[in-house]
Parts: sequence; structure tokens; C-alpha cells
Amino acid sequence: MLFIDTHAHLDHLENVEQALVQAAEAGVSDIIAVSVDLKANKRNLELKKSIQRPRIHVALGIHPGNIVPDEVEETLRFIREHIKEAVAIGETGLDYWYKWAKKDEAKKAEQRQLFRRQLELAREFDLPVVIHSRGAWRDCLTMTRDAGVKKAVFHWYSGPVDVLNDIVASGYMVSTTPSLAYSPPSREAISQAPIEHTMIETDCPVYYQEGEDGRFQATPKDVARTLKAYVALKNVDESKALAVFNENARRFFGI
Ligand SMILES: [Zn+2]
Repeated sequence: MLFIDTHAHLDHLENVEQALVQAAEAGVSDIIAVSVDLKANKRNLELKKSIQRPRIHVALGIHPGNIVPDEVEETLRFIREHIKEAVAIGETGLDYWYKWAKKDEAKKAEQRQLFRRQLELAREFDLPVVIHSRGAWRDCLTMTRDAGVKKAVFHWYSGPVDVLNDIVASGYMVSTTPSLAYSPPSREAISQAPIEHTMIETDCPVYYQEGEDGRFQATPKDVARTLKAYVALKNVDESKALAVFNENARRFFGI
């Protein structure tokens, strides 16, 4: 079985070389390395060049939680200069749940402005967008549609089902993580999402629950856990589901 981890922060892994060897051994053929700031954009492009297996594909972007005002222009310039090396724009989007953003309309507006500029970049270069949408699901969808972006994935989607239905109706995708094994909002959303609009990922190195009170720190090989959780939730055939997920990822990212 071959797996594709469609959302990994490789630059945040403590021992990325070891994690990639383990991923290759576990059958991970491809990884989408998403980037959150200038440093991450640079590091992920380096990893793509230096690692043969698994194949690394890079998404270039600025995360709403990593906005450094003094670096924004330089980062957007860097992304533009390296756009041919990217398969997507991201991780970008909005997050209204950060404490510093929750009650601060100016901060939310700053997030929206930067998200809009990245959506425009995606449209200009006809690239898919990897979207972080926590607490801002409806705004993310409206802005993505308004920007005329054709391909978007609402990563680790755990928002309301009415927005999910509009995401699917717009032809966009959602993705899910190992949290699908236990998180009620993830389970509620993904149980409603058609498999043709769903992808699997790890968002590594995020920590996830395991059992009653254990937890583990994800690396790309744990995309197999996301698949297992999906199969258990939806009661579908494992290898058939994986084939659909792989096809979705290949088509979405053009890999
Ligand atoms: Zn992420």
C-alpha cells in the first residue's frame, strides 16, 4: 500500500531524516510539505532537493498564525521567485480562534488581507490552495470563491456541516488527520463529506490522542492512522478508500 501525506510541516520535525526513512519504509510515496513563514518556505525547498524518498512536493505560503509584518513583503517576493518549484500555495488562511485575534478586528483584517494576496497569487499561477480555516470557515470559503480560485483544500476540516456542504458544492476539498479517531467535530464533518472530496494527512508534528490518556507526536508515516480512523468511521474497504485518496491527492496537486 502506498500513502500520500497531503499536509506535513517537515521543517518542524525534530529529526526529519529519521522521520522520512520511517515514512518510506511504511509505504509513504509522496509528502506535501506546507510552509508557514519565510524560514519554512526556504527549508522545505531545500528538503525537496536533498531527499529522494519519499518524494517531497512543496506548498509555499504564510500561515495566519505566523504573520511577521516586517517579513511579509520579502516572503511574498520569495514565493513568487520560487513559484515554479511549488505544487500549491499554503499553508494560508484565517484563524479567528487565536487569543490575539478573537476580539481584535484589526488583526482579523490583517489576516484577511494577507490571505487575499495569497489567493490572488494562486489564481495568477493556477495553483491549488491549502487553507487553514479554524473559526473562520465561512470567511475562508467566501474569500476563496470570490478570488476565483479553482482548487482549494480546507485542511483538517472540523467546522460546521453547512459550510462543508458549500465547500463540496464549490468543487473544493477537505482533509482530515489522525484526530478523526476521537474528535467529535472532525468525525461529524468527515462523516458528511463525500470521499471524492476528502484527502488524508498528518499535519505533523502535531500531537494526537492515543487510547484513554496517551498521546503521540505524528510524523508522515502516521497518515496510515488517518486512513484507519476513516475506514472505522465510514465502514468502507481500506484499500479502495486509499486508492481514492491517492487519486484525489494526485489530481489535486498535479503530482
Ligand atoms: Zn498545518
